[in-house]
Amino acid sequence: MHPLPKGSLLMRAIYVEDAVKNHPKTAFLCQRFSKKDIIPIRSYSQLFNRKRQSFRLQKQNPALIIAKKHASFLLPTSPDCMIGNLPQYTFSCVLNCPFSCSYCFLRGRYHSADIVYFVNADDFQNAIAKKIQEHNARCLFFSGFDSDSLAMEPILNVLDDFWPFFAARQDADFELRTKSSAIAPLLKRDPLHNVIVAMTLTPSSLASLWEKGAASTEKRLKALETLEQHGFSLGIRFDPIFPGYEKAYEDLVYATFSRLHLESIHSVTLGPMHLSKAGYKRMVSQFPDDRLLARLQETDQTLSLPEKEASLLSLKNSLLKIIPQTLLTVHTR
Ligand code: SF4
Repeated sequence: MHPLPKGSLLMRAIYVEDAVKNHPKTAFLCQRFSKKDIIPIRSYSQLFNRKRQSFRLQKQNPALIIAKKHASFLLPTSPDCMIGNLPQYTFSCVLNCPFSCSYCFLRGRYHSADIVYFVNADDFQNAIAKKIQEHNARCLFFSGFDSDSLAMEPILNVLDDFWPFFAARQDADFELRTKSSAIAPLLKRDPLHNVIVAMTLTPSSLASLWEKGAASTEKRLKALETLEQHGFSLGIRFDPIFPGYEKAYEDLVYATFSRLHLESIHSVTLGPMHLSKAGYKRMVSQFPDDRLLARLQETDQTLSLPEKEASLLSLKNSLLKIIPQTLLTVHTR
């Protein structure tokens, strides 16, 4: 057995879908778990999509579900999240995240907090190659939509599949988005100019309140410094921002850019928190005592924090004193 790395998340059990029971990645993962914890299943969706599961309880001790994805490998990136003008798509080999951010839309997206890992990376890669061909142009692909891109990496080793793929695809950019400081899986690789490691940054007092399980802000900054020293291209994401803490954001902007060099920055983005009405309702039913959710206000079909416009403008002005406009994208909803 190859034991799980020290400090890894403890998984309640490991479920293996019949379709991938002979997949090499399944064998690799199963040898890290005791045989008694490995449970065969016919279809992941029968387990994952069951109604009346407690997302909140599962979050404390999730199971790992190894499965095969059959369709919809890529989704167009929402205009609220786009960076620059390239055609952009998200793909999700992993559903759910071991961190527990109060504002995470995944809390209202799935019935289960168990972590699904689709091992058929080659099907995702074929879809990516096809999409580039369709556009006949450079495209940008994101993997941090349905999970943190690095949080599960010490267990799942997803980068083993995608690093060589993007190394060979100079017509595609790939963004990993994270709040993890566990960057060892990156540091053992040579940086690629078309792979961006984007770190979400939040003032430390707010991160400790609303980003449970994620690395502290100081650890994230330290990880960025280390990645820069190793030659990685970096993204800085102030997203979502929390209104009413303008001074804390200004301090964070100065702390960030006094430690990093502009030459290593691919892009900086900022954006507000917003949730769909339906997602918000499901989140509140699972986390009725969450103080951040209680502060959201409804506008049209979405909910967001009041005073977001003033806060975005203040952070934008702080950033533009330090970085060129060309690096900055401001999402307004
Ligand atoms: S790190 Fe991202 S995916 Fe994970 S809980 Fe926080 S917001 Fe959700």
